[in-house]
Amino acid sequence: MLKPPRIFALIVAAGSGVRAGGGMPKQYRPLGGKSLLRYSVEAFARHPAIAGTLIAIGPDHGTYYKEATQGLNLLPPVIGGKERADSVKAGLAGLAKEKPDYVLVHDAARPFLSAALIDRVVKALRPGRGVVPALPMADTVRRLVKKDWEEVERSGLMRIQTPQGFPFKELSELQTEDVATFTDDAALWLAGNLPLDYVEGDERLRKVTNEEDIAWAEAAARGRVATGFGYDVHRLVDGIAIMLGGISIPHNKKLDGHSDADVVLHALVDAILGALAEGDIGQHFPPSDPKWKSADSSLFVEEAVRRVAARGGSILHADLTVICEAPKLAPHRAAIQQRIASLLNVAPEKVGVKATTTEGLGFTGKGEGIAAQAVVTLSLPA
Ligand code: MG
Repeated sequence: MLKPPRIFALIVAAGSGVRAGGGMPKQYRPLGGKSLLRYSVEAFARHPAIAGTLIAIGPDHGTYYKEATQGLNLLPPVIGGKERADSVKAGLAGLAKEKPDYVLVHDAARPFLSAALIDRVVKALRPGRGVVPALPMADTVRRLVKKDWEEVERSGLMRIQTPQGFPFKELSELQTEDVATFTDDAALWLAGNLPLDYVEGDERLRKVTNEEDIAWAEAAARGRVATGFGYDVHRLVDGIAIMLGGISIPHNKKLDGHSDADVVLHALVDAILGALAEGDIGQHFPPSDPKWKSADSSLFVEEAVRRVAARGGSILHADLTVICEAPKLAPHRAAIQQRIASLLNVAPEKVGVKATTTEGLGFTGKGEGIAAQAVVTLSLPA
């Protein structure tokens, strides 16, 4: 079988742009609870086709960078240059030791990069060819020269966005001394007389330049809030340990089920799927499928989290209630909270873990089974 190509992402974020206000470089402006830069970094860092992500930053942006990329697994940043092209050059040099086959170069100023767009660019990568996301012009375009409105033929006019994908070696070879005159990598590529393809761009990839764009981006980042609810029950049988919330707790019973029967994670998965309105756990991981026999339920959570990312969403909060008489949850609460936070890629303070008994009443009270409830809040693109 052919080895899959090694594809890396390079984000240019060295600009000192303060035109958008806020008293800091625009790529670090907070937007819906995280920095503008972090949106595209997360999109690359979580995309299965991307082997690694490197960011070219400004010489005095170290502190901003650290804060903006906290918890993400990235290649060490490089210091970019005065012009965008200088930063691309520095970034490519920084990536060279990874021996990429292809590189996707992206502007930090375009925060709303979807997994679907990365897919389109990645699928269009070909040896010897470049690829850009592009959109047609809807407006009539004219060039104003002194006081004359010159006509510009609209047909065939395209707005070119990023990430732009290129074979790494060829793009690196084009990095000569005077790259600074090129406003994007496609321009440099075309100047080298090399073929360029395009895929459909995305209106939401709008470049954030001024204060007005920031206002738009804030509204877009807010998106809409969706809430999902999940409920699950599993029967208790004799055992030595019980899986609850992704951790194994020593106990004289275990939960019975096709997978590891982690009732807490099952309720959580249903809550995520509910917020996405994408069915339920049984539909995605049917118990009739031998593949899920004794499966670690954290796999189900990871898949649900991938679906959130694929929809361009993010998890705002999860709240869980475990209903049982035994085992006592209190000694394990912090471990469950940590484990679920790491599965959801969120901070532990965004995961509530609570336990209750039913005062000896009903199946949970009699110790016949354990029930769990989960509520998940997502933000999704409007
Ligand atoms: Mg279940």
